[in-house]
Amino acid sequence: MKVKCPECGAEFDAPDDVIVGEIVSCPDCGLELEVSSIQSGKVDVKIVRISGEDWGE
Ligand SMILES: [Zn+2]
Repeated sequence: MKVKCPECGAEFDAPDDVIVGEIVSCPDCGLELEVSSIQSGKVDVKIVRISGEDWGE
């Protein structure tokens, strides 16, 4: 299961039993990523915003 970090572009392996909604962290930049979909061995993730913190978006 390959995951591509949307922040730094690094590819890393997620556990084979990873599920949608699970949090994985990028080994490269340390960002926390939530699994948003899994399709034929490819895992899409979105960046987790820590609640309570305002990033000014
Ligand atoms: Zn990263």
